[in-house]
Amino acid sequence: MNNFDFKNPTKIIFGKDTIKNIKEEIPADAKVLLLYGGGSIKKNGIYEQVKTALADVDVTEFGGIPANPEYAKLMDALTVIKDENITYLLAVGGGSVIDGTKFLSAAAVYDGETPWDILTKNIRTEKGMPFGTVLTLPATGSEMNSGAVITREETKEKLAMGGPGLFPVFSILDPQVITSIPKRQLVNGLTDAFTHVLEQYMTYPVGALLQDRFAESILQTLIEIAPKVLEDPTDYKAASNFMWSCTMALNGLIQKGVPTDWAVHAIGHELTALFGIDHARTLAVIAPSHYKFNFEDKKEKLAQYAERIWGITEGSTDDKAYEAITKTEAFFNNLGIDTKLSDYTKEYEGTAEKIAQRFTDRGWTGLGEHQTLSPERVEKIVKMAY
Ligand code: NAP
Ligand code: FE
Repeated sequence: MNNFDFKNPTKIIFGKDTIKNIKEEIPADAKVLLLYGGGSIKKNGIYEQVKTALADVDVTEFGGIPANPEYAKLMDALTVIKDENITYLLAVGGGSVIDGTKFLSAAAVYDGETPWDILTKNIRTEKGMPFGTVLTLPATGSEMNSGAVITREETKEKLAMGGPGLFPVFSILDPQVITSIPKRQLVNGLTDAFTHVLEQYMTYPVGALLQDRFAESILQTLIEIAPKVLEDPTDYKAASNFMWSCTMALNGLIQKGVPTDWAVHAIGHELTALFGIDHARTLAVIAPSHYKFNFEDKKEKLAQYAERIWGITEGSTDDKAYEAITKTEAFFNNLGIDTKLSDYTKEYEGTAEKIAQRFTDRGWTGLGEHQTLSPERVEKIVKMAY
């Protein structure tokens, strides 16, 4: 096992009817900016619950943060933060609203030239404006981690940021919120969380037995609850296990002491930036090709995953490893998620070259757990995913 530090300061308040607890978590003298997305919270009752809980608190609101939080829109929110002397942020939404809020937490205290630098110059935030979240969509794990991904439509870029100052102070996880989530977003959430685990697990083995089994338990739970959540989102047992699995998939725990990959996400973000494809779907497009391309490096863990997750016990290591990739792709397909780029756009020709060029321009010459995935190799993986 590799050496590691582990600190996750986010307080989780989990369970039925927990939104009413928000007020106890926010300082009484705070000037709060409540941030939300396209308005789903006004239709499903979450907005009302939040407003009731914050009845005596000084709250300003900013809505309209789109899926794939957009820089220009967030800059409008930053103006509100400055004009209204906001001291505390509250994100009510999915990964997009929470990520957008993390950007604002960093930008509010950033004194450089332009907050876009935080993304392009990889400026880590040691201390941001404090914020809490009310999670409305299990998927990203953003509610208990310190990373964010921000989109800029103007330049068709989607870039990541983070830092120890960007953990939410608290996150409220009421699994009952999933009842209003459209099926498209439920399957996105299952796919994103599943791929988060794969990114931290499908690497060369370093003898981290416990981390492997933590990761496998999340994969098994997601596979078990997926059909139940889709059939009946009011099934609280399924909903609560879904929500906690998504959080546990990316709160730092399973990545400690192991190499992590994240190439699927890095490449996937480009597909969202270029074509607007939902984040989770870009991962389902890239992951199978990535594992086939890097087969030699990953086959030992792929074979372990084949045995422990998919019950494949027959055949050689290579056979089992290959079958595991097929099973993974079938899992996504069974959720209704397409796994080829050409399923999403007719304009796919040239995409691989474009992404490779962008990675070269940014100096991203070595992705993956061995930092060996050059732009030329990335190009091949994307072509395999056409
Ligand atoms: P999302 O983009 O936050 O939300 C997708 C859609 O679901 C929106 O239209 C949203 O509506 C709707 N929605 C959310 N909760 C709902 C509810 N309870 N009922 C009905 N509709 C609901 O989706 P996401 O998958 O959570 O986030 C994706 C973003 O997170 C991407 O930008 C991705 O890159 C990023 N991400 C971040 C991390 C991280 O660790 N920080 C990890 C992976 C991905 P409203 O707009 O009305 O709210
Ligand atoms: Fe993700």
